Amino acid sequence: MTIDGARKILKHSFGYDSFRMNQEPAIEAVLAKKDCVVLMPTGGGKSLCYQIPAMMQDGLTLVVSPLIALMKDQVDALKSNGVNAAFLNSTQSAAEQVEVFRDVRSGKLKLLYVAPERLLQSGDQFLDFLRGIDVSLFAIDEAHCISSWGHDFRPEYLRLAALKQQFPHVPLIALTATADKLVRKDIVERLNIRDAELFISSFNRPNIFYAVEPKRNSYGQLLDYLEKRKDESGIIYCLSRSSVDSLAADLRDEGFSALSYHAGHDKQTRDKHQESFLKDETKIIVATIAFGMGIDKSNVRFVVHMDLPKNVESYYQETGRAGRDGLPSDALLFFSWADVIKLKGFAAVEGNEAQSAIMLKKLDTMGKFGELTTCRRRFLLNYFSEESTVDCGNCDNCTTIVERFDGTVIAQKALSAVYRTDQRFGLSYLIDFLRGSESKKIRDEHKNIKTYGVGADISKEDWFTYFKDLIAQGFLAQTQGEYPTLILTETSFDVLSGKNPVRLVKTKAKDEKAIRPADRSSLPYEKGLFDELRRLRSEFASHENVPPYVVFSDVTLVEMSTYLPQNDWEMRKISGVGDLKFDKYGADFLAEIKRYCLANGLTSRSDLRPTRREPRKRTKRGFSGKDTYHISLDMFRDGKSIPAIAKERNLGVSTIENHLARFIATGEVSLEQFVSIEKVEPIRTAILKFSESNALSPIKQYLGENYSYGEIRAVMASMNR
Ligand code: ADP
Ligand code: ZN
Repeated sequence: MTIDGARKILKHSFGYDSFRMNQEPAIEAVLAKKDCVVLMPTGGGKSLCYQIPAMMQDGLTLVVSPLIALMKDQVDALKSNGVNAAFLNSTQSAAEQVEVFRDVRSGKLKLLYVAPERLLQSGDQFLDFLRGIDVSLFAIDEAHCISSWGHDFRPEYLRLAALKQQFPHVPLIALTATADKLVRKDIVERLNIRDAELFISSFNRPNIFYAVEPKRNSYGQLLDYLEKRKDESGIIYCLSRSSVDSLAADLRDEGFSALSYHAGHDKQTRDKHQESFLKDETKIIVATIAFGMGIDKSNVRFVVHMDLPKNVESYYQETGRAGRDGLPSDALLFFSWADVIKLKGFAAVEGNEAQSAIMLKKLDTMGKFGELTTCRRRFLLNYFSEESTVDCGNCDNCTTIVERFDGTVIAQKALSAVYRTDQRFGLSYLIDFLRGSESKKIRDEHKNIKTYGVGADISKEDWFTYFKDLIAQGFLAQTQGEYPTLILTETSFDVLSGKNPVRLVKTKAKDEKAIRPADRSSLPYEKGLFDELRRLRSEFASHENVPPYVVFSDVTLVEMSTYLPQNDWEMRKISGVGDLKFDKYGADFLAEIKRYCLANGLTSRSDLRPTRREPRKRTKRGFSGKDTYHISLDMFRDGKSIPAIAKERNLGVSTIENHLARFIATGEVSLEQFVSIEKVEPIRTAILKFSESNALSPIKQYLGENYSYGEIRAVMASMNR
């Protein structure tokens, strides 16, 4: 079993050309029966690290995952690629579970997903069951749940220690997207895999554009932002349930497709809204942080924070839900210092002093991020202990030219306010003082100072920015603690004396431009075709009752709309089009693409495809032995019925019909062999009736239940002869 075999599966079953990040070495380790820990950011492609070995080995791969809600989708996605998988959890009936057990015992299943509590239910019953079968691999998803240092500790994970104790020879792979050193140590120790190989990938998410906007009229700003993203999916986070509800309602009034999600809704409503979002029926979900854990939607194009997240960890996790498919996506935060202060108020009532000190510090860091004038990605990566010394070029600060102006006089006013009030006051007091506030808060003796009110012509927000800039440039310093005050530094006096001119950041410079334009015109894909293909995808998805990405991901549709494949060969080169998906959907998507190209005078652009790096050791091109069509043909010639072939090959009846239809076109199979003679004429008539549309679905709809797609394809093939 070699990595070449794994690469073949990557191409034929999943439709991808090359491995990402540490997928290849992790798969190699698993195949060599070594334990390993895989750390990869969300969307990195952790699942393939155990799915591919599962498909290559005899026996069953047991996947432990805490996210029951996700299991069905994961299993559906695997099945759509022709992999035999199932799950066991509390949502199933007893009969369904019995069937799963039977399939496990018969050796039919390659992957079984279970929740940790299910695995360890009623003593060791399940483990005893496992002993009776051939287990090739244990995969522990969300492995950080085993550590009490993590943010998502689940005590039932502790009992997974039993796996390695009782099955010392079965390799174990632990996977997670968040694990610092302490958590990593816990994973290795508690799962008893002390010799595990560690695969750590960078946490950078290069396709996410980070932007921060000052929170002034955030609703208006949001509307402008969304207006440019009408067809895109996004998540908007708010702090409170009531603001979630009102924002969702307001957006609907504005004509946006938006639903709300928070823990105040009953489960049924939550599930309904989530489902509608996952299925692309609703474009925008407005939510509290209750939304997101385990949301596996790959085409989320933007995540907006209307309010400040509590810490950088949460911010990174929440924004990480954008762009899992690798396409350009946005993270937009509306930032105000008032939010920091508000959240500090909440943090302080915690009661636990040590804990609240940590939370306050984390909030300060979040505040720093908000007012950062340098590369945001560098800040984030450094925060997560990844050295990064280059600017990313894909965040607001990297793409906005910061304009500065001579701010010496403003700086002098600010510094003199600090000096005259004896360096004993905080930012907001100083700003009120400078603006000549009438508030009782301002001490009477301060109202007589000459500096009082000299900055009334400058808004609070702008003063705030100038002060922060002065701190950043070292002309002022801020003390630590709950009530930080501003103090002068060594360089302050040079400014006050006029020896040192000061240049300040222009406060309006970032407006508008900071947000990346929505139309991603750099991607030369046919937007109109993309929309058509999306529609076609929804038809299949709702017909099969799966989320759209199970049919094809957005990346795959974008590739199709870029390279405009015109035949089977070109279609197969599209990333994400594996054998089974090609069989199932290839013809319909090709027809749609051809129709669009014809109408718009376009031709294939497949030759524009960048040639990929060749894998290390190139094996014979093509399939091992016969292609999937000829296998079906041979079986058909051996006298097997179509349903029997479908069963034996573990493929759908329509897939087999589809295979055979091709040989009708070549004359190797006669039409009468699988379309009964009285059906031929009605099908022929229907095909002619809808001849200009080129798609099968209207024909099928017209003919009704008694006619299958395969039969229609067969007649079509015979007509094309
Ligand atoms: P994770 O579990 O790490 O969050 P997934 O395993 O769900 O990520 O993968 C995220 C997406 O990336 C999926 O749509 C998956 O099919 C795709 N993907 C995984 N590996 C590759 C690859 N080598 N090339 C292209 N796409 C990939
Ligand atoms: Zn940057």
